[in-house]
Amino acid sequence: EKSDVVREKFPLLAEMEMTLASVAIRNWGTVGGNLCHADPASDLAPSLMALGAEVTLTGVDGERVLNLNDFFVDYFETKLRSDEVLTEIHVPNRGLGGGAYMKFAARATDLPVVGVATYIVLDRENRDVCKDIRIVMGSVGPRPLRSKRAEDILRGQAITDKGIEEAARLSSIDAQPVTDINGSEEFKREIVKVLVKRTIRKAVGRARTL
Ligand SMILES: Cc1cc2nc3c(=O)[nH]c(=O)nc-3n(C[C@H](O)[C@H](O)[C@H](O)COP(=O)(O)OP(=O)(O)OC[C@H]3O[C@@H](n4cnc5c(N)ncnc54)[C@H](O)[C@@H]3O)c2cc1C
Repeated sequence: EKSDVVREKFPLLAEMEMTLASVAIRNWGTVGGNLCHADPASDLAPSLMALGAEVTLTGVDGERVLNLNDFFVDYFETKLRSDEVLTEIHVPNRGLGGGAYMKFAARATDLPVVGVATYIVLDRENRDVCKDIRIVMGSVGPRPLRSKRAEDILRGQAITDKGIEEAARLSSIDAQPVTDINGSEEFKREIVKVLVKRTIRKAVGRARTL
């Protein structure tokens, strides 16, 4: 959150860190530990997934690299084998896209009731057109979930309010929230809609400045 490089290149990550628990927890916890713990309510996992991060897993037989999207399996379960340790996290710095992370929580630094990370790359020739997008939802399923249908609606198209509304609607359908003490399933789907719209708009704004 204090690194100049991270603030400049990946403002999404710096912002996300500012609301991840308390300073004490942030000083103590590690990024690798957060990912390997695979809490579906992690703030880090959807943020890094939206950025297209990869992880290197090192075991007795050598290394393998997995896209973070392929790393998470289920509640608190990953593809890590019993002899493996996560040794590297690689975040591509293509400098082309803008990202945003937002969460809804009872207090700003609580675990998210819903968290959404969006990363968008705009067409070089026409800055109104979405070239590529990743929308990742946290805390609304057994693992961070991408809404591929929402992404497909926007990819290759001019970014319009109607398109953003439709992407938000599809994301809220693709989310898999459960009713718990934090809110009902329906409530969480509504929050997904709101956060998807807000993160897309913020990510587009950032991408336009590049
Ligand atoms: C009070 C509190 C509030 C929190 N709030 C938030 C929040 O708002 N948002 C959020 O995202 N997180 C939150 N967390 C989680 C926190 O950010 C850490 O991710 C979590 O505590 C794990 O921390 P750690 O790095 O010490 O991992 P550990 O507890 O050391 O490890 C977690 C698991 O991963 C394994 N592991 C750790 N590192 C590796 C590795 N390199 N390779 C293979 N396996 C490994 C360990 O064996 C263990 O099974 C909170 C935690 C606490 C205690």
